[in-house]
Amino acid sequence: MHCPFCGTPDTRVIDSRLSAEGDKVRRRRECVRCNSRFTTHEIAELLMPLVVKRDGRREPFLEEKLRSGLLRALEKRPVGTERIEATLLRVKNRARAGGERELSSRQIGEWVMEELRGLDPVAYVRFASVYRSFEDVNAFREEIERLQAPSGTVDPE
Ligand SMILES: [Zn+2]
Repeated sequence: MHCPFCGTPDTRVIDSRLSAEGDKVRRRRECVRCNSRFTTHEIAELLMPLVVKRDGRREPFLEEKLRSGLLRALEKRPVGTERIEATLLRVKNRARAGGERELSSRQIGEWVMEELRGLDPVAYVRFASVYRSFEDVNAFREEIERLQAPSGTVDPE
């Protein structure tokens, strides 16, 4: 880090300290040329990426919107709030993990579908029918047929 006083690119850390909450590092630095001292703070950047919609418009990542989509798919299904919240958190973490500034709504929808597939088959189909619309109509039909097959003909997982 450049010295803010003389601009020399060489500064050294003379003290480094974690905040009480553990979410910040405070560093005391000294310039090797002019000996000025200054402090820097380091925090993790946990910004949610912008969501690029199908029509190209961008909007902020809205957790509430994601939650209401999940809740709609899971309506009257035997899945508790804790599991819904855990699902939401996993999708959010995935959206952040790549460090991208933008993500397509389609990508997020795919992640939600992956989650729902393991969580509840009916919710998965409900969600997929909204997200995939007519693009994958055959895959969608196969999925419904698989789910409607009499028990005993579906391979246990
Ligand atoms: Zn300096």
